[in-house]
Amino acid sequence: MIIEDFNESVLDLKMPVWAPGSYLVREFSKHVESLNSKDKDGQQLSSVKLNKNTWRIETKGSKNMVVSYKLYAYERSVRTSFIDEEHAYLNGTSIFMYNDLLLSNPVTVKINPHSSWKKISVALERVKISDNWQYKADNYDELVDAPFEIGNHVTFSFVVAGVPHEVAMFGTGNYDSLQIKRDFTIIAEECSSIFGEHPCKQYLYIIHNLNAGGGGLEHANSTTLQTNRWSYGTGSSYTDFLSLVAHEYFHIWNVKRLRPAPLGPFDYSNENYTTLLWIAEGFTAYYDDLIIRRSGFISDVDYLKIIAGNMSYCMNIKGAAIQPLSESSLDAWIKYYRPYENSGNATVSYYTKGGVVGALLDMEIMKSTNGSKSLDDVMKEMYQQYYKKLNRPFTEPEFVAIVNKVAGRDMSDFLRSMCTVPLLAASGVVGGDGA
Ligand SMILES: [Zn+2]
Repeated sequence: MIIEDFNESVLDLKMPVWAPGSYLVREFSKHVESLNSKDKDGQQLSSVKLNKNTWRIETKGSKNMVVSYKLYAYERSVRTSFIDEEHAYLNGTSIFMYNDLLLSNPVTVKINPHSSWKKISVALERVKISDNWQYKADNYDELVDAPFEIGNHVTFSFVVAGVPHEVAMFGTGNYDSLQIKRDFTIIAEECSSIFGEHPCKQYLYIIHNLNAGGGGLEHANSTTLQTNRWSYGTGSSYTDFLSLVAHEYFHIWNVKRLRPAPLGPFDYSNENYTTLLWIAEGFTAYYDDLIIRRSGFISDVDYLKIIAGNMSYCMNIKGAAIQPLSESSLDAWIKYYRPYENSGNATVSYYTKGGVVGALLDMEIMKSTNGSKSLDDVMKEMYQQYYKKLNRPFTEPEFVAIVNKVAGRDMSDFLRSMCTVPLLAASGVVGGDGA
C-alpha cells in the first residue's frame, strides 16, 4: 500500500478484527505475514508490532511511504477472504489495513489478477483513465464494504428502478440466468416499493455456488451469497435461496443506511455493541419471508407455516425464558456467534425472535389503524427521517416514537415487554417444564 501526504512521526496501521454485519471478533491480523515499510526513495523504515492488530512505522519525516505485507487467505465464507487456483474472493476487512487519521481519505485500489483470470466484479467505481484494474473509494468504509470477486466467473446484468444490477456467478450449478434475472427483479421491486426509492448507483450480487454451505453478508451496494450449487429451479431449496436474496437485499435500506447508533461509522478494532439487532436483523428476517410471499414465490399457507414455526421456536426454546431480546443482540459477539452446548438453554436468536416481534408489531399496527398502516410505514418513515433527512444513526426511543406515531397509540409497553424481558416472563408464564 502507498500512503501519501502523511504528516505524523509514526504511522499506526491496523488490521480490522471483524467484518461489519457479522458480529464476531475474527482476528484477521492472524493471517498477516512479513510487513515491510519503505519511504518514497526506497529507504527502509523501521516498524514494530504494538498489539495483536497494530503495526507502528517510524516515518522519519517521510510523508510518502510504501508498506507491503503478505496475507494468507483460505477461509471460504462470505465474511472472510479465500484464494485458490479457481478464483479470489477478497473481503475488505480481512485484506486492507487502516490508519485512524486516514479513514475518511479517498482510496485507489489496483488489482493485478493472475494471467489466467479475466474478470473482476466489485461494487466500486472503476478508474476510467486506466487500462488496469483500478478502482476508487471515497473512504476506507466504502473500500472495505465492497468485496471483490476475481477469476473467470459468469456475469449477467439487468436494471431495476433505474439501477444497473450485476450477478457474478462463481461455480457451476443448475441455475437459469433468465429465471434469476426475473426473480431477482421481482424481489428488488418489492423491496424498493416499501421504502419508496432505490439508493444505489449500482448493485452487485456475488454468488458462490458450492457443494455445501450457505449464507449471505450485506453491503451497501452489493452482497455475497453462498448456496448449494443444485439449489436452483423449483422447490423449497430455491425459495429458501430467494429468501436469502431478499434478506440481504432488504439490508440495502435496513442496517446499511437506516442503522442503530453503534453500527456505523464502525470501530474496526473492537466489538461494536448494540441492543437493536432485533430491528437490524430480526425485522430483516421478518421481511425476507414477507417479500417472498408478496412476490408470489410461496403461498399464503406456506408463509403462515413459516410464521407459526418461528413463533413455536420462541415459545419452546428454553433460552427465550432466560435471555431478553435486547441482550441477545448485545451479546451476539460472545453468544449467538459462539454457540456451544448450553446455547439452547440460555439464549434466544435475535433473528427469529426479532422477526416474530416484527410480525406481532405489524399486526398490532394494522389492528390499531384498521389496516390503513403497517410496519412498512414505520420502516419507510424511519428511513426518510434518519437516513434521508438527518443522515445519522437512530436510537431506540426514536424508533419507539415513530412506531407510536404510525400506530396512533403508545406501543412502548408492548415493545418493552417483547425486548427487554425474557419472553415467558413478559407473558406471565414463568415456570418449569410443567407436568
Ligand atoms: Zn441479515
